[in-house]
Amino acid sequence: MAELCFDCLNETMGGKEDRRKYVYSDYLDLCEGCGQYKKVVLCKRGFLYYIRKFRIIIYPLMLICFPLILIYSLCVRLYCVIKFKKYKKHK
Ligand SMILES: [Zn+2]
Repeated sequence: MAELCFDCLNETMGGKEDRRKYVYSDYLDLCEGCGQYKKVVLCKRGFLYYIRKFRIIIYPLMLICFPLILIYSLCVRLYCVIKFKKYKKHK
């Protein structure tokens, strides 16, 4: 990808790009479009960035679900052990 600042990139893409959709460099770099030192676009933000918006919902859900899954798996194991003991008694 050529090193372009957001303004130059927006120009080449047709002027409808959202500034928040891109990741920018931390340092100033030479823009290949306008020839000025600006923060250049490194890449487009991925899928995980959009999921982070919903972390307020996802984290509590994980906190609730994890103990439930743990309890469920413990119950299944206990059930299996009890069944196995009964099976052994019959023999
Ligand atoms: Zn530029």
